[in-house]
Amino acid sequence: MDVKGKKITVVGLGNSGVNAAILLNSAGARVWATDSSDTPSTKNMRKTLEAKGIKVETGSHSESFVKDSSLVVLSPGVEDSSEPVRWANRFKIPMIGEMELGCRFCKGNIIAITGTNGKSTVTTLIGELLKSGGKDTVVCGNIGNSLCGEISRINKNTWVVLEVSSFQLERIENFKPRIALILNIRDDHMDRYSKFSDYFNAKLKIFSNQDGDDTLILNYDAKELRGLEGKARSKILFYSRLKKAKGAYLKDQKVYCLSGGEEKEICAVNDIPLKGLHNVENVLASVLAAAVAGAEPGPMKDVIKKFKGLSHRFETVAIIDGVDYIDDSKGTTVDSTYRALESCAKPVVLIAGGKDKHSDYSAVKDIVKRKVKELVLIGEASGAIRKAIGGAVATHQAKDMFDAVRLARGLAQKDDIVLLSPMCSSFDMFSSYKERGEVFKKAVDCIKGSCQKVKI
Ligand code: ADP
Repeated sequence: MDVKGKKITVVGLGNSGVNAAILLNSAGARVWATDSSDTPSTKNMRKTLEAKGIKVETGSHSESFVKDSSLVVLSPGVEDSSEPVRWANRFKIPMIGEMELGCRFCKGNIIAITGTNGKSTVTTLIGELLKSGGKDTVVCGNIGNSLCGEISRINKNTWVVLEVSSFQLERIENFKPRIALILNIRDDHMDRYSKFSDYFNAKLKIFSNQDGDDTLILNYDAKELRGLEGKARSKILFYSRLKKAKGAYLKDQKVYCLSGGEEKEICAVNDIPLKGLHNVENVLASVLAAAVAGAEPGPMKDVIKKFKGLSHRFETVAIIDGVDYIDDSKGTTVDSTYRALESCAKPVVLIAGGKDKHSDYSAVKDIVKRKVKELVLIGEASGAIRKAIGGAVATHQAKDMFDAVRLARGLAQKDDIVLLSPMCSSFDMFSSYKERGEVFKKAVDCIKGSCQKVKI
């Protein structure tokens, strides 16, 4: 992509925007960057970028930043209603997202993973499978480190394992992954999308530029994905826990996968250390993608056996007085909490709530009735959750996470589980799901008596 001497404006100074600005600057563009917030972090970024000769504004957006640009690059969080987008539309300046920019500079082979739940787990596991298969591998995207920031490490033999969100897919043009995966598409982000179909269609853009040389991998068990076969030009493979699919499947509690035209046994379900049926699906998706990328099946079993999963995803953080304390802070959707509850074999005291994404919480009412003995609510969405499912189970209100854990401890008995699986994002009370999970762990530590400073 030739950007030499062109004025290009980057909107948003998070990880994506900053790396986009640095990439464009090193490619010779005249970069302007704008962010409406003025937090210590944006101020810091401002210094870094200004030191490279990039023109930066923070605290508000000015029209002059957008005017006369030949391209505007948007960070994933920037909404259509924002001022820079409206100005770019008025001046007829093309707009792309950070990931689209990254892919225009990317010489490697992209494996793109999207879905409502399971993206980070599958992205990480595919990365591990490829690395152990001796492939030059870069794992990036929505998982934390943006594609633009990794471009200098990528050459034509690199496999780029890229976690992709619907927000990133909204603003692609040429993005064309060699292998694309859709894990599931469930109710989420209804605070940003006015209709579920808008969210669904944004996810489908992952294969919109694929052709017959590319592969699309779909979860056969997710009913909403089965009808997509006719819509893609790519080769389609499925994975399934429930039937013998053309791709990867379970038979007699063993994982099988198509590799080099033959079906090979990869491992037994018992070899998978991660809990829950959803994680069996995640393993099926990952081995299939790695096999399509040319990884040999032989070493895969060892990688799967060693894969302990990521923090804050159904992670047992303590066992106190016979009660398991499980941190599923990344369970930010109704479906993920459903899957977490499905994985619990003992009675559950569930801590839920956070920033309301206007999800349909009634979808967990039945499983809550079956699995949850007490429900402890925190955060902004408490009222909405209580309205949707409060009648199904004894419900308690907590002031904050420490209060929630204290309440849960009082309600749980030996052989119960205390599960934090919020169904909501964290931004009403925390900076991220990570901080929420860390505070949960700290509150649990306090119960153990290993925390002196914080009273609960
Ligand atoms: P994402 O990156 O899409 O948010 P993660 O891999 O971080 O997904 O997992 C987030 C949460 O979603 C987990 O804590 C778990 O509760 C749930 N989850 C993981 N994989 C799946 C799946 N395949 N289907 C449904 N829920 C899942």
